[in-house]
Amino acid sequence: MAYCRFGRDSDVYVYAIEGGVECCRCRLLDGRWFKAPDAAQMMEHLLAHRAAGHRVPESALDELRQELAA
Ligand SMILES: [Zn+2]
Repeated sequence: MAYCRFGRDSDVYVYAIEGGVECCRCRLLDGRWFKAPDAAQMMEHLLAHRAAGHRVPESALDELRQELAA
């Protein structure tokens, strides 16, 4: 399941994997993959993207927030 994909409103591609959440071809890591063990750490990672000026759809953060609340 993808939280968001590369596109007009997104500079990140984030999806759930076995045992965590992955940021595909991460711009913060020169195109390498970032793997977070849980939604909370992916949330922090996406906020770091925003701090760097990258576009992160609010809907992706909302979905992660919902998982944290579940
Ligand atoms: Zn990333």
